[in-house]
Amino acid sequence: MSADPIYTLSDLEKWSFNGTALAVLGHPIKHSISPPMHNAALAEMARTEPQFKAWRYFRFDIPPDDLPRALDLFREKKFLGLNLTVPHKTLAVKHVSKIDDAARPIGAVNTLKNTAPGWHGYNTDGYGLSAGIRETLGCNIQEQHIILLGAGGAARGAAVECRQRATPSLWIGNRTKENLDALLKDIGSSSAHPASPRGFDPHNPPVDLPTGALVINATSAGLRPTDEPPIDLSRIPRPAAVYDMIYNPPETRLLAQARSLNIPAANGLSMLIHQGARALEIWSERPVPVAIMRDAATAALNQGK
Ligand code: NDP
Repeated sequence: MSADPIYTLSDLEKWSFNGTALAVLGHPIKHSISPPMHNAALAEMARTEPQFKAWRYFRFDIPPDDLPRALDLFREKKFLGLNLTVPHKTLAVKHVSKIDDAARPIGAVNTLKNTAPGWHGYNTDGYGLSAGIRETLGCNIQEQHIILLGAGGAARGAAVECRQRATPSLWIGNRTKENLDALLKDIGSSSAHPASPRGFDPHNPPVDLPTGALVINATSAGLRPTDEPPIDLSRIPRPAAVYDMIYNPPETRLLAQARSLNIPAANGLSMLIHQGARALEIWSERPVPVAIMRDAATAALNQGK
């Protein structure tokens, strides 16, 4: 998927790099296309601002038990910024010295910036989701009734984004009721939005789901080609559009069903690109070349086929 080397904690212990280092850490990390996406953007930025020639984005496989030690070492080795992916987004929260307002209610961070007092934590996933949906489906989520599927980390970020943007309604469907109830409880009192989010069983969708909603899949159902779709679109009032956070494979069975019903549909690549672009803006304090990031991410995904 990406030719970039995968570094480990022991590489970090003896790390030496004469430039501005950025990295993504996860476990596993071999699926990540963030290095080619960010390094392409940095190369483009270096064309007009030569200091970016010395910036480089790496990837590290860090098991969760090693996260505290790794975060200390990344600071010691003067990394400017980090992206966090599974399983570190929630674990890292207790290691930041400051947390951004948008990240606090989510309880998860995907971007860290090295500042004098310590790591400053951000969550750019919600921004990436809204920007990705606007770009690919032409809709602003604050104007949409939302049917959100899932109750894990990604769904939590999406639900908080919907609450903060005061979407007209928010329906959340999840396979496991306990996880759904926990998410509803956590987000229920976190915003001034008057219309409370409502939960449902995706195998038994309620009749009062809104017509013309935006369906967002934030489950991992679809990562494997044999996965059943998280909902049968023919059993709910006709949605306006379907956004699947999964981007690999590029067409899940949910997206295939949406297309067969002539419902506009898009995969999660645009979310990945926009969350990454916002992270690079946070580190560089500059606008970043999103189109270059998109081309690099698409090329890296195609290489992995
Ligand atoms: P989590 O493991 O935290 O949550 C998984 C969710 O998927 C749970 O709600 C789980 O339901 C549900 N689920 C898993 N398998 C099935 C199934 N077979 N049928 C129905 N529901 C299922 O994962 P994340 O929230 O971190 O990630 C979810 C998805 O979002 C992943 O596919 C990930 O790749 C994608 N994602 C994409 C991003 C992007 O930039 N495009 C960014 C972040 C995530 P239950 O509670 O019942 O177990």
